[in-house]
Amino acid sequence: MGRVIGIDLGTSTSIVAVLDDGKPVPITNDKGEKIIPSVVSFLDPSHVVVGTEAKKRIVIEPKTSVYSSKRLIGRKFFSGEVKKAQMIMPYEIVEGENDSVRVHVGEKDYSLSEIAAFILRDMKKTAEAHLGEEVTQAVITVPAYFNDGQRQATKDAGTIAGLDVLRILNEPTAAALAYGYGKDLNQKVVIYDLGGGTFDVSVLEIGTDVFEVIATAGDTYLGGDDFDDRLIDYFADTFFQQTKIDLRKDKLALQKLKAEAERVKIALSDNLEETAFIEAVATDKSGKPHDLSIPITRNLFANITYDLIQRTFKVCDEALQASNLTVGEIDGVILVGGSTRMPIIQDAVRNYYLKDPKIGIDPDLVVAMGAAIQAESLSSGSAAGSLLLDVTPQSLGVGTAGGLVDVLIARNSSIPTSTTRTFTTSRDNQTSVRIQVYQGESRNSAENEILGEFVLSNLPEAPRGQVKIDVTFDIDTDGIVSVSARDQSSGREEHIKITVSGGLSQAQIEKAREESMQVAV
Ligand code: ADP
Ligand code: MG
Repeated sequence: MGRVIGIDLGTSTSIVAVLDDGKPVPITNDKGEKIIPSVVSFLDPSHVVVGTEAKKRIVIEPKTSVYSSKRLIGRKFFSGEVKKAQMIMPYEIVEGENDSVRVHVGEKDYSLSEIAAFILRDMKKTAEAHLGEEVTQAVITVPAYFNDGQRQATKDAGTIAGLDVLRILNEPTAAALAYGYGKDLNQKVVIYDLGGGTFDVSVLEIGTDVFEVIATAGDTYLGGDDFDDRLIDYFADTFFQQTKIDLRKDKLALQKLKAEAERVKIALSDNLEETAFIEAVATDKSGKPHDLSIPITRNLFANITYDLIQRTFKVCDEALQASNLTVGEIDGVILVGGSTRMPIIQDAVRNYYLKDPKIGIDPDLVVAMGAAIQAESLSSGSAAGSLLLDVTPQSLGVGTAGGLVDVLIARNSSIPTSTTRTFTTSRDNQTSVRIQVYQGESRNSAENEILGEFVLSNLPEAPRGQVKIDVTFDIDTDGIVSVSARDQSSGREEHIKITVSGGLSQAQIEKAREESMQVAV
């Protein structure tokens, strides 16, 4: 078996790591970078660039530079998240078949799995150059709240990129693995993950061989970008006062200011003061060029971002409440995400959880490192490979009268698993029942996702409540759900197999893979 790589496929940045001499190491690419912007920019249909070069193009080539595509992967076109993204993203988001999402670039529609595949191919290439051998297998991390459709779409992205995805791993679980959790019994750990555009907090309960996500909460539009925006506003306002020139109206100037704002933010993680400087950023009406040169202290930065930091703790409150735990019952707090390098965040987290958060491992690399540990344990088939029993990310149940859902398999159940429950008819002389299979956490069926349905007919005529039907849910090790319904009196049975789709059929994935390989990355 060849080497298996671990990939943190992030909303803003992606990292690939492997185990070198038993230690997880993030791999540096041919440009000397470990942290790669998750941006794909099309030069033409047969040539894309990925990473830093693509990120630079977002402002000047907004229609052909696709960023934050992870917000869309495996989503339904009519979902709220997709509507929100459509309002914010400058690239074109269109409807594909079966309620799926596509990105329209140039003349072509791309599935989100195809977009992610370009990033994965870049990661694969970086790993191959480092290892000096072909790589065909990977572990890829996803947020804990990803549903089966989003997980499957991520797996499909791997297939399109020529990678067999051995395991989809939860990001908070990967972080906990990197810190060596899983050896001691019964610990409760909080993962505070502030990335580029998203904030996730998870509470994990760690036992001998299972990492259970007992609660997750998040804000899908809160991250480092918001801190950049506050600086952009501050610099643009100050510059306007000085020169009466509005940089926000000048695309090229704004692109430079965006990059400079992020640089200043990062510098303020190390220094108490930093000056934003852009030479000849714009010219005034008389044609005279003006430099932008504006100093800012860490204290002022903390003041203009105070409300953003407080918003993260509202979410932390929610996660604690959902897990029925108090701050005192938490054994450890792990910081994840590039934005947690900010001292103002670290101080605030310490105050909230009343303990020193773990920052020993670089917070922007820790997820990839955990993925590499899991990858190695799978490839070596060692005892550690049995670690991390897969769990169902969302509850599965059947629709019942009154628009409710009766859960048969609760979220976080270890798989494989099987459950049978007996239902009865709800009307007199009812001769058929419709079994609707739902996924989600709401008690109301309408708020959950319907995975499939079927009808069991030819039931004997009888007063309501007398005909008994056994409904069985079965999930195998690959996460495939089979549902059957059996009439107890006659033994008649109907069933369906639900293969969760990430929005692409097998044939489409194969075709996408062939087409994708024609595109130079
Ligand atoms: P994601 O998981 O969302 O893909 P990351 O965890 O890599 O993203 O976080 C990216 C964010 O971290 C960006 O907003 C970036 O500016 C920010 N960041 C990276 N390093 C630092 C630093 N030293 N100080 C402050 N912010 C940082
Ligand atoms: Mg991340």
